[in-house]
Amino acid sequence: MARTSNKNIQAKLVLLGDMGTGKTSLVLRFVKGQFFDFQESTIGAAFFTQVLSLNEATVKFDIWDTAGQERYHSLAPMYYRGAAAAVVVYDITSMESFERAKKWVLELQRQGNPNLIMFLAANKADLEEKRKVASEEGEQYAKENGLVFLETSAKTAQNVNELFYEIAKKLVKAA
Ligand code: GDP
Ligand code: MG
Repeated sequence: MARTSNKNIQAKLVLLGDMGTGKTSLVLRFVKGQFFDFQESTIGAAFFTQVLSLNEATVKFDIWDTAGQERYHSLAPMYYRGAAAAVVVYDITSMESFERAKKWVLELQRQGNPNLIMFLAANKADLEEKRKVASEEGEQYAKENGLVFLETSAKTAQNVNELFYEIAKKLVKAA
């Protein structure tokens, strides 16, 4: 039987979402396996790389972790332009962050790359007692808009590796 050739994929990945939703924490959990209770706010954007090896493929992520503050909004297109995948993050304890996430999704839908792989991360899933956004609400919204939905926690690591693996798998499939 012929062996499938190995794919080497390099992909730009952008994280978008309100300030404080845990974008930087998700990336640091994935890249460094660490979590900080007092994570410093990102200024502008931060850049990380990480390589994931799957069966028959290696995916090198170029990760742009954006700041999320409104005053940096005009910079956002620089980070999502040319991106193969985007993760829109909200915080399950903040309805406002969920509303903000929907605006990011709209903006991504309008930016003109129909092949953009989009994930919706409902982060801080460890704070169940403070939950304001029901799982079903996030899930339903994601379904209607063609996003993959995952509830994550950068703190407990719930679904964090899964998030990036699922993205990598989709990238391999699309390559
Ligand atoms: P960003 O502005 O979206 O990059 O958010 P940060 O990663 O800076 O996180 C903002 C705050 O939320 C920090 O105090 C983090 O420690 C905290 N945080 C991030 N992710 C989680 C999580 O999954 N659970 C909990 N409980 N706190 C989190
Ligand atoms: Mg940040």
